[in-house]
Amino acid sequence: MMHGSGSSLRLSTDFPASTSSRISPLPLESTSRSSSNNVEAIRPHAPWFHGNVSRETTERLLNRRADGTFLVRESTNFPGDFTLSLACQGKVEHYRIYQTAAGLTCDQEEFFANLIQLVSHYKREPDGLCHRLLTPIVSDLFHVAAHADIEQKMAFFRASGLSIPSADIQLGDVIGHGEFGDVLMGVYRGQKVAVKRSKRLVGGVADELLDEAKFVVGLNHRRLVAIVGVVLDDVDVGMVTEYMANGSLVDFLRSRGRHQLDRRQLLQFSIDIAEGMVYLESVGVVHRDLAARNVLLDAHFTAKISDFGLAKDVNSPSGDSSAGKFPIKWTAPEALRQSRFSSKSDVWSYGILLWEIFSFGRVPYPRIPIQDVVRHIERGYRMEAPEGCPQEISRIMNDTWHLNPNDRPSFIQILQRLIGLSQGYGL
Ligand code: AMP
Repeated sequence: MMHGSGSSLRLSTDFPASTSSRISPLPLESTSRSSSNNVEAIRPHAPWFHGNVSRETTERLLNRRADGTFLVRESTNFPGDFTLSLACQGKVEHYRIYQTAAGLTCDQEEFFANLIQLVSHYKREPDGLCHRLLTPIVSDLFHVAAHADIEQKMAFFRASGLSIPSADIQLGDVIGHGEFGDVLMGVYRGQKVAVKRSKRLVGGVADELLDEAKFVVGLNHRRLVAIVGVVLDDVDVGMVTEYMANGSLVDFLRSRGRHQLDRRQLLQFSIDIAEGMVYLESVGVVHRDLAARNVLLDAHFTAKISDFGLAKDVNSPSGDSSAGKFPIKWTAPEALRQSRFSSKSDVWSYGILLWEIFSFGRVPYPRIPIQDVVRHIERGYRMEAPEGCPQEISRIMNDTWHLNPNDRPSFIQILQRLIGLSQGYGL
């Protein structure tokens, strides 16, 4: 958020002082014009942005809607500015969003680089509006664009022979709930599959699911959950993957516990995952979300890596829209602080995953509040090895948690050490 330099900003005469709140709804008529006409540059691709829809249409769209329902449009009275229209106590309030040299503002006090930041701010708190922003009216522009984006992405799967007609899959029970929506069991060509579904039009989510699917298509290894294809119907988009009968590793560890799982089995999971990571390291892919919840077990209890929603090629630019999504307790400090992701930041996460495995699915740093974790780590704190954990595993964990990524072992070195250990167990 940018803060204006107060002195250079003048309250516009058509911006009446309010008695009840810091921001007053827009007057119906005005003759003033904004300084900038650069609307295109900051026109967001967002569900709540309706372009130059009229005040009358806006009022029709927002009439009788729940408090907090809103949209943003281009201002008709003040070309270059925008209007935030909001349903509140049976009325529709219109707030002018000024485009100034210091940024976009409703109240000449808080300034934002773009509309997305402004809307996020007023979603968190009303800050002078008659209500906090809650539910957007989704614009037709967005519907059309979302359809176009999805159609364009589907072309890739059609060309790769990975587009599955929805009639060819029989869907069964819900077997899980993920970030995108439900995960269902299905049958495709006589084989059990899992279908991760999302609604086509839920703000960009279907898009992300297709991006993940596209990323996974390029990866092929027996320790990675394989993609079978992508299915699209009028309502949903689905990523179809091999069915992993024993579900997520973390649930499995918690439900079986130390009485039903022995060290050999825990070590075998660790080896399976390290094999998958050696492959990812060799093809230059960084997973960025390696954790026991993102490892699945097949019918033979083989562990395979899944959930590539945050993964990327090591050479692609570091800044991306994933910022803020990374799991703090699993992510290396240099990745959290400076977005420096690498196979060595995956190695750090792998150490946390080892800790999860040998603690039978406990949540890491059990007694440290999430906001304090990085500070503790930078001061040298490290988790103790879980009770009963083999010494060599404990040494590997500590080696993966060096502050300097170069001091951490590579996945191939980790795998060799695990295999050495397994020979002692007769695996
Ligand atoms: P996700 O969205 O990948 O985090 O998946 C949520 C949950 O759905 C997981 O924890 C699993 O229980 C289940 N699940 C996801 N993918 C599969 C799969 N391929 N086979 C079986 N269960 C799955």
